[in-house]
Amino acid sequence: MKRLAQLLTALFGVLLALLVIRTMTFTSRQLRPPSAEKLQLDKDAIVTRLSEAIQFKTISFESGTESNPDPFRDFHAFLAKSFPRVHAQLTREVVNDHSLLYTWKGKDDRLKPILLMAHIDVVPVDPDSEKLWTHAPFSGQVADGYVWGRGTMDDKVSVLGILGAVEKLLADGFQPQCTVYLAFGHDEEIGGQNGAAKIAALLSQRRVEPEFVLDEGSAITDGIIPGVAAPVAMIGIGEKGYLTLQLTVTSIGGHSSLPPSESAIGILSRAIDKVETTRFPRRVNDAVKEFFNFVGPELSWDKKVLLANLWLTEPWLERELAKSPLTDSMIRTTKATTIFQAGDKENVLPARAQAVINFRLISGDTTDAVIER
Ligand SMILES: [Zn+2]
Repeated sequence: MKRLAQLLTALFGVLLALLVIRTMTFTSRQLRPPSAEKLQLDKDAIVTRLSEAIQFKTISFESGTESNPDPFRDFHAFLAKSFPRVHAQLTREVVNDHSLLYTWKGKDDRLKPILLMAHIDVVPVDPDSEKLWTHAPFSGQVADGYVWGRGTMDDKVSVLGILGAVEKLLADGFQPQCTVYLAFGHDEEIGGQNGAAKIAALLSQRRVEPEFVLDEGSAITDGIIPGVAAPVAMIGIGEKGYLTLQLTVTSIGGHSSLPPSESAIGILSRAIDKVETTRFPRRVNDAVKEFFNFVGPELSWDKKVLLANLWLTEPWLERELAKSPLTDSMIRTTKATTIFQAGDKENVLPARAQAVINFRLISGDTTDAVIER
């Protein structure tokens, strides 16, 4: 008995030592680059340019509905006028009418090129919501230290940021070592099939294989990771999958004075309830683990000890992540019932009830697996 107690104490001691050592060696992985030289930039010109860019109604409407080509052409002309060096020295191609591909030749042909992306379209504005905007969505108004409107963050700021950087480098006489492609799609908000996909097909046909691709994705955030005081740059390295399913129940219908034991609405409601109350299994993939490997060392000791020892604490981490919709969506396929339609008269049983459920698939889950489930 005494021996067993000794053995357990020893084991506990080893475990404790392991936890402490792992936590102590779980040190910051933040890069400390030398501070960059501050550029002299014309702030007013940059603000005015973004404000002007917002005023072009380069709207992507859901496929099949009206789409106006004029703002896209006007926006192209605006870019040409705003970035004269880019347009004089880089090759510009218009792909599929409204998307843009620029090629900036590098010094060394043997190097793989890089590809910087952004998109010039924005989502429409619901007319009913227009009066709720602090400043009109296409006003590009400058107020309270901000430029306001559609595209200020998503994603004209990136288009102008990239072109502005290249314009400045050209003015300084810079030529990149490797070739740099700039690709600006025009239908990202409705899937990118006519813009980015066409550019990709063109580059692939030319056997261009970039060293890396940089696109929009997340932001530098403040205070979204509890316990981390410094801003956290969330780097998107992938996108969840997308699936929409429609559920339909048909029944005989008829008069409400002689109802059957179950109605189309009742059957469909129970199905939706089942879908909503059964969550997909959670899975902490390598990308999420890496995220915590970088964020973990920045936390206080009590939390650090948990993240430094995921081999032991992973179930705890999964439970913690499941508590907020944001972090929960990082570790499982989610679903949302977005449309429910049935019936249009108070005394008539509907012959059909329909619902639409939108799924966002975590990497590793397939469309087939979700349908099967
Ligand atoms: Zn975007």
